[in-house]
Amino acid sequence: MIRALWFILKVAVVIAIAIWLADRPGTVSLHWLGYAIEAPFWLALLAALVALGIAALGYRLLRAVIGAPRRMRIRSRTRRRERGYRALTQGMVAIAAGDAQTARKMARKADVLLNEPPLTMLLSAQAAQLQGDERAAKEYFTAMLERPETAFLGMRGLLTQAIKSGDRVEALTLARKARTLQPNTPWLLGTLYDLEAQAGDWAAAEGTLQQAIQAGAIPTDEGRRHRSVLLLERSFEAERRGRADAALSHAQAAYDTMPGFVPAAVRLARLHIDADRLKPAAKVVERAWRQSPHPELAEVYRSIVDSYDPLTRVRLFQKLVRQSPDSAESHMAVGRAAMDAQLWGDARQHLERALEIAPSRRLYRLMAELDRTERHDEDAAAAWLAKAAAAPADPSWTCRSCGAVSHAWGGLCGNCGAFDSLTWKAAVTAPPLMEPTDIPPALARPATA
Ligand SMILES: [Zn+2]
Repeated sequence: MIRALWFILKVAVVIAIAIWLADRPGTVSLHWLGYAIEAPFWLALLAALVALGIAALGYRLLRAVIGAPRRMRIRSRTRRRERGYRALTQGMVAIAAGDAQTARKMARKADVLLNEPPLTMLLSAQAAQLQGDERAAKEYFTAMLERPETAFLGMRGLLTQAIKSGDRVEALTLARKARTLQPNTPWLLGTLYDLEAQAGDWAAAEGTLQQAIQAGAIPTDEGRRHRSVLLLERSFEAERRGRADAALSHAQAAYDTMPGFVPAAVRLARLHIDADRLKPAAKVVERAWRQSPHPELAEVYRSIVDSYDPLTRVRLFQKLVRQSPDSAESHMAVGRAAMDAQLWGDARQHLERALEIAPSRRLYRLMAELDRTERHDEDAAAAWLAKAAAAPADPSWTCRSCGAVSHAWGGLCGNCGAFDSLTWKAAVTAPPLMEPTDIPPALARPATA
């Protein structure tokens, strides 16, 4: 509607001008280079307008011809970039799908098309890794170190490679360098702390651990336990260097950090015993027993009460048991003390109570010993030993990382070198295959308590 009105308006204007010109007749004459042209005014005006139109058209055509190569260059560059980005995306999808060959092909294509090394180098490195070409990946990661925007990613790649290949010295150096680039990256702090601990650099590890906990890389509870382990290792180190005071203060700090952590309580109590401070040693064990009754604590307690007569020893063990009256470990400890004091009734009562709570291999052996020493009943003892042989394995210090079993606790696994990996649990191993034999297994085994 508006367009129609507009058209009518334009036509009206043209007609108005034509009428206006017709009302005012006249001629235009031009004399140039001996030529003379004479025309009515309206024709001259029309000719001038047509000439102007032709000039404008010519100018536009000329501009189009001159600008064509530049426009073609821009268009081809844009198309190239689009293809490059498409190759980059396809490469990343291939990495996610685990298709190494396509990933590498696309990485090469993107590299040629994009000419943007920060974008394509990571893809190339990952593609090489996926294909198992660690050497090529290393070259890419190393090249990434030269650009500030990719340096940290390159460092991360090299660090992961070093850890995977088991080169802990190189990994520690790289992790320390990476920390100078980005000091508060949680995963890096966690990794660095682990590497420092595995390298036995306890003091540095303690500092990094604190940072890692603050950055949220390690949960607070787990961090407390790690700290206790680090302090214990510092205590052992101080002792090796002949610094008894430092050994004690680190052990005390480890125990204060986590009083229920058995290795810390055992260590601190042992140091007190060595210095003839039996009362503080007993207090340490009693407090730890409340949270974690444990055979190693019972053993330490035995050396604390060793100097007393057997009856006093039983009385003192009963005091220990009151800290955790519902644990089988408590009743086994006092039962053992009662056996040593030849209080057979008490011993049997506690061991039977322990049997009700949690039977175990160790407990069956104690029962066998009780029946043998008190009643000289070899048949009953053999029956208990048969039960022991059939029972699941007792807990021991077992590495969470590699499953190796250690006879004593330590901050580092002696087999795989993992830090704070030893936990008190039954080793997960396949049950031993039984060999055909004529002798019942209970009798073939030597009697041990
Ligand atoms: Zn291990």
